[in-house]
Order: sequence, then C-alpha cells, then structure tokens
Amino acid sequence: MPSITLAQALTQAQAEGLGRIDAQMLLLHVLGRAPTDRAWLLAHDGDTLPAAAMEQYAALCARRAKGEPVAYLLGRKEFWGLPLSVDARVLDPRPDTETLVAWALEVLATRAAPRVADLGTGSGAIALALQHERPDAQVLAVDASADALAVARANAGQLGLPVRFIQGNWLHGVDGSFDAIVSNPPYIAAQDPHLAALTHEPLSALASGADGLEDIRTIVAQAPARLAPGGWLLLEHGWDQAEAVQALLRDAGFDQVQSRHDLAGIARCSGGSMPGGAPQ
Ligand code: GLN
Repeated sequence: MPSITLAQALTQAQAEGLGRIDAQMLLLHVLGRAPTDRAWLLAHDGDTLPAAAMEQYAALCARRAKGEPVAYLLGRKEFWGLPLSVDARVLDPRPDTETLVAWALEVLATRAAPRVADLGTGSGAIALALQHERPDAQVLAVDASADALAVARANAGQLGLPVRFIQGNWLHGVDGSFDAIVSNPPYIAAQDPHLAALTHEPLSALASGADGLEDIRTIVAQAPARLAPGGWLLLEHGWDQAEAVQALLRDAGFDQVQSRHDLAGIARCSGGSMPGGAPQ
C-alpha cells in the first residue's frame, strides 16, 4: 500500500461513509493519542500515517462502516466525565442517560448517605456516576448478565468507586429499602425496525416485549416495596413512552409523577416518589 497522510486517511474513511468525528477518533486511537487530541490531528494532517497504524485504521474503519459503535472499537466511552471500559457485553452508554443521573442527584440532594439501586447497570455507567458524585451514598448495581457485571466491576475497580454489585433480575431477591431506584432498562419494542441498526449491542439490553414496556412494568410493580417513604423511582424510556410510563407510575400509587427531557429535547425519563416523604 502506498503511504498516505493523516488528511488522506480521514478523507478515505469519509468516502467509506464514516462520520468525520468517528474517523478522527479511530485515527487518534491507532496513533496512540487521546480522543481530546483533535486539534493535534488538524495541525499534523500532512504527516504520514505509519504502515502498521494504517492497517489497523483500515480494519477499524471497515468495522465502523458495518455499524459497530465507536465505543466498542476504542474499548472506551466517557460517561458523566468518567472514562469507562466498554465492549459488546454491554450497551454503549448514551449521553441521553446523563439526564437520568442529573435527576437522581437532584432528588438525592437533600438526603445524607442515601441508598441507591441501579437496575440493569450494564457498564455500570449510572451507578458509577452517582457514586462518584455522592461518595456518601451506598450504591447497589444489579444486572441479570454475568458478562455485564464483569465489565461494570472492572470499571468500578479502575475508578476506585465502592459500588456493590449483585446478579439478579431487577429487584427480585434484593432486600432493603432505597431512597432512589434508577434504571435504564431495555425499552424498544421487539418488532421495532430501529433494532436492525443496533445489532452490535446485546439484544437483552435493548428489546422488551411487544410494546417495549415489559421490563418497565416489572420494575414499576416491584419498586414500591423497596422504596423508603418519599423515595423516588426514575426510569429512562423510549422517545414516545413518557405518557405510558407516567400512567404506570400513577396506577402503582406514585406521587409527583413527571418527566425530564434529554439533550435532544425528548421526554426521555419519567419518575415519581412514594407517598410519605417530606415535600420537595
Ligand atoms: N437509547 C437506546 C436507543 O434507542 C436504547 C437504550 C435502551 O433500550 N435502554 O438506541
């Protein structure tokens, strides 16, 4: 292969259909540079791409062109400012989910040493973000997948955060009482055409029954018995599910039922509190 410059490498990837930022991330990765080094890339775009890096870059671009998330190709994703290791065993953490973290921090702000459960933790993103922000919290992270828990535990170890992990189905077998239960469960309808674009991520983290609400129904049914008076259940859900999730929460006896918008302005999370807490 003839040698090419960094600028040519980026142009070639874009010709294969890659987004410019994706191509930049992959190029920085094969050059052993940080994802924050995009300015360096621009300043050095006349440099020659070394042969070994070129081969690796071409392979990564081919995988990206087939839809593999950049996070898996880099083995890394930043969530809430925390560097997480991620791979195909867990959902690629989305920035939208930071909405859920921000809301949880808000409802926990007035509680000292809060007890928090993150259901379906995946990479551990939500649990680790909450533990990072609230060192006084007791955070329990649950996942049905042993593979996911291995990824989450490794992230907790890397970050030195004392989250507790257990394997289980939602709250089944979980004891104790929590000030907040949070979850980004699977919520895509089993027949949703969007699933076709997400084949690289675990289906068990994405799809949930005919209407996408099966797991949310289970969590809403289980949560009241595990929440302290005034404790909150906060759920991420699909772009068109806010009304349905709010109705489920009201039917289960939750107060203050409301939704929060994600960065794209979509009502992405809904939640409510158990009766009996101090008003906030
Ligand atoms: N937000 C993801 C998507 O629609 C799905 C995440 C989930 O099911 N929890 O791509």
